[in-house]
Amino acid sequence: MGPMHPSNRSPRARILVVEDEARLRELLRLYLERAGYAVREAADGRAALDAFDEDPPDLLIVDLMLPKLQGEALIRAIREDSPVPILIASAKRSDVERIAGLRLGADDYLPKPFNVHELVERVNAILRRTGTGAGAGIGAAGGTAPGAGPGGGPAGSGRDAGPRLSFAGGRFVFEPSTRAYTCDGRAGRLTPAEARLLLALVRAAGTPLDREQLLPTVAGPHAETSRNVDVHVGNLRRKLGDDAADPWAIETIPDVGYRWLASADPHRSDRAQA
Ligand code: CA
Repeated sequence: MGPMHPSNRSPRARILVVEDEARLRELLRLYLERAGYAVREAADGRAALDAFDEDPPDLLIVDLMLPKLQGEALIRAIREDSPVPILIASAKRSDVERIAGLRLGADDYLPKPFNVHELVERVNAILRRTGTGAGAGIGAAGGTAPGAGPGGGPAGSGRDAGPRLSFAGGRFVFEPSTRAYTCDGRAGRLTPAEARLLLALVRAAGTPLDREQLLPTVAGPHAETSRNVDVHVGNLRRKLGDDAADPWAIETIPDVGYRWLASADPHRSDRAQA
């Protein structure tokens, strides 16, 4: 399948594999290293959090059923201050659990048992999409720095990274290059999927986009369902303090999808990028 070799590009993207089954962990390491990634392993959730704090990777592959600290709790802890891409690779496979995983802020969900080649492909796709690490191939420097301030990491995808966007008279300000935002005085960071979703909505401002159109922004090439879009929109709304029943930012168009409502502040935003 002609794998790209990130090692040919710039610093190798670093992946933390969180999996308690030793044989599977070994297998993942083997294939990911073969694909050009630098791999570290953690056999339980606690060890994963320690490894993450010590030296943040460019992407995590996380099993949900883990000793000591469950995958859900691990992801929640990481998401407190980092938008690092997370791929859940887990046997929990009901739609409800899958959606719950995405709601935690994971970028993709691969149900076990999976084909290792497919896992590598999804990792490649996530890193390309998020512009993180060497896998992106768009000149992004490796070495995400969770918690770092603006400019602290290769946060946005290069193509999407544009000038700072400001809406509704400065109520919501978003910095695409770092995915940092302020909204009603609160500061935070969007996940890669949320940022892509936001930018797609903003580019089409005033025009409804349906779920199928938005799906590629939030999911990998093997997207499960358009409900993923709803989940990510819900997450984005929470961060924006937006009320679905009386929105100022994102309007739900019944049976269609979503529409961006907030007016752009002309002096700071640059919708011309659309
Ligand atoms: Ca497990």
